[in-house]
Amino acid sequence: MNEAERIEEEVCRAGFSCLLCGACCSGPDNEVMVSPPEIAVLAAATGLSRDEIAEPYPEWMQQDGCTFTFGWVLKRGSDGNCIFLEKNRCRVYRFRPHICRTYPFMLDKERLIVSACPGCVAGCETAGAGEITGDLLRRREAEDAELEKTENQYQKHSIITGSTIVFDSSGAHEYSLRPK
Ligand code: SF4
Ligand code: SF4
Repeated sequence: MNEAERIEEEVCRAGFSCLLCGACCSGPDNEVMVSPPEIAVLAAATGLSRDEIAEPYPEWMQQDGCTFTFGWVLKRGSDGNCIFLEKNRCRVYRFRPHICRTYPFMLDKERLIVSACPGCVAGCETAGAGEITGDLLRRREAEDAELEKTENQYQKHSIITGSTIVFDSSGAHEYSLRPK
């Protein structure tokens, strides 16, 4: 059995079927990482700007008077919900990022992790496990590439005292902490 077959079998055994409850897109813990290529897809689909789609990953660091973070998360409203969630439906379903496509699953290297989700029922089988597995493998490949490029950008750019920077795979972006 190869890796894809093994993952597909595990996904199948998780007994997942989305209940469209919206819990994974809402609430205070809702934090969906989104990469520059995914932001570009959402921007093309919606006509929104990067700063209307995403906000900096909210784990800020300090070094030599510079405040910085790595990457972006989907923008949230004042209620903590993803801005694309409407009546428990995703307004950008066809263009949603890898994390949304694969929830409640993720790969930690070779290991399949299944997050708590009311759509997983013991003893049932996940419909479309092969498609989910393909999405999981594409997500892992994309995330590994993003991580490597982001690390390169961080090494390449100098820290500027007094500035606020978001490092991502495409560069170092000066950022105003006030919402734009
Ligand atoms: S993936 Fe799970 S938490 Fe998210 S909407 Fe579906 S059932 Fe709800
Ligand atoms: S983009 Fe869609 S699926 Fe992803 S968190 Fe937002 S509403 Fe949910």
